[in-house]
Amino acid sequence: MSSRAMAHHTVACAVIFVACALGPGLASRKLLVFLIDGFRYDYINQLDALPGFKEIVDSGVKADYMTPDFPSLSYPNYYSLMTGRHCEVHQMTGNYMWDRAAGKEFLIGTNPDSRLPLWWDGSEPLWVTMQKQKKKVYMYYWPGCEVEILGVRPEYCREYFYSPSESNLTQAIDSALETLRNGSADMAAVYYEKIDVVGHHNGPLSPEREDATKKLDDIFKAMNRKIKESSLHNELNVIMFSDHGMTDIEWMEKVIELTRYINMSDVMKMMDRGPVVSLWPKEEKIDEVYNKLKVVKNMKVFKKEEIPDRFYYKRGKFVSSLTLVAEPGWFITESIDKLPYWDNGTGQAQAWQHGWHGYDNELMDMRGFFLAYGPDFKKNFRAAPIRSVDVYNLMCGALGIEALPNNGSWSRVQCMLSSDASLARLSLLVSCAMALVSLLLLT
Ligand SMILES: [Zn+2]
Repeated sequence: MSSRAMAHHTVACAVIFVACALGPGLASRKLLVFLIDGFRYDYINQLDALPGFKEIVDSGVKADYMTPDFPSLSYPNYYSLMTGRHCEVHQMTGNYMWDRAAGKEFLIGTNPDSRLPLWWDGSEPLWVTMQKQKKKVYMYYWPGCEVEILGVRPEYCREYFYSPSESNLTQAIDSALETLRNGSADMAAVYYEKIDVVGHHNGPLSPEREDATKKLDDIFKAMNRKIKESSLHNELNVIMFSDHGMTDIEWMEKVIELTRYINMSDVMKMMDRGPVVSLWPKEEKIDEVYNKLKVVKNMKVFKKEEIPDRFYYKRGKFVSSLTLVAEPGWFITESIDKLPYWDNGTGQAQAWQHGWHGYDNELMDMRGFFLAYGPDFKKNFRAAPIRSVDVYNLMCGALGIEALPNNGSWSRVQCMLSSDASLARLSLLVSCAMALVSLLLLT
């Protein structure tokens, strides 16, 4: 072989190698992703009342439900969904976290220290991987899109603020569709919080929550029409999911007050209230506090090594020396006057809330939803349950991005792809293999 032929051969090998490395990717289409906070799997059981969702289900894939990661809270699952890794791997283990060594706190993303790399750099989320590969990501209200993660930000971030309105959502969708259509974005990701907020305040089965779901349905119905009428309908896949579900709580009746059992001055730090509480007792008091909490009814106390393996939680670097987990419907706090308050719009603080999440992730009410439609997905297909870590592989596949090592299962999501998409994948793999074999034989 001449040196020139050799150079050609090397280039061809490199090209084929890259194409094959991207093997699991389909014909890289565009992707629109929705994260609907606190949307329980059964909110779309009555599809006749939700024509927008019905169109999506009829034209695409619906998983029976999606099991969140433990704890079934927002930030941990935002990151499990976008990295495909369990909480103890990606390190975002709570909505409230404490880094004892650095003396820093993460307070549900609201304090300046929440943007420090130490909370986010534990794993690389999909949008960072895409940007590194020169694929552009537009993000709307998505918590964390404003943060520089591993030195990278998305192409565009419309920053999160508390509970964007329906018209904020419509504007975000219109902008996302336009940027996908005109080629500015390869992926657009939209976050919507209202379903979670109304579920907390009024309860998962309340008329207020049903009304909020209907309004969301109207917006999706309009979106379906916009996609159908645009050039996007042949090239855009849409995936939507939630971070967790919601269950009824009975405040004042099902409250566990820690001050009844322990002396809070024995505790260096307590993070979060509710279904899961992180406690760092003073070193010499750990056993004493643990033994006192061991007898408390309607909750469990774990030392790190006792936390069940199935939670994939205990190895997280921000996990506290004691973790308290309440039984369904129960709420842990220091004392009843320390319940989190909210403003009902009248300026008066309201203590009473009717819904919460964060409990054992296998609890039925903690389950979220998953829907997908577009050219790469089967139509009117009912898929078996999946887990939040499975979604990442599917997004990577739809985008033609090589997935980083993760805890998701490809076999749980592969069935959702249309036979064309599966064939495309197979033929790409076969042609890659044949091209490599013939090149090797030529050498
Ligand atoms: Zn949430």
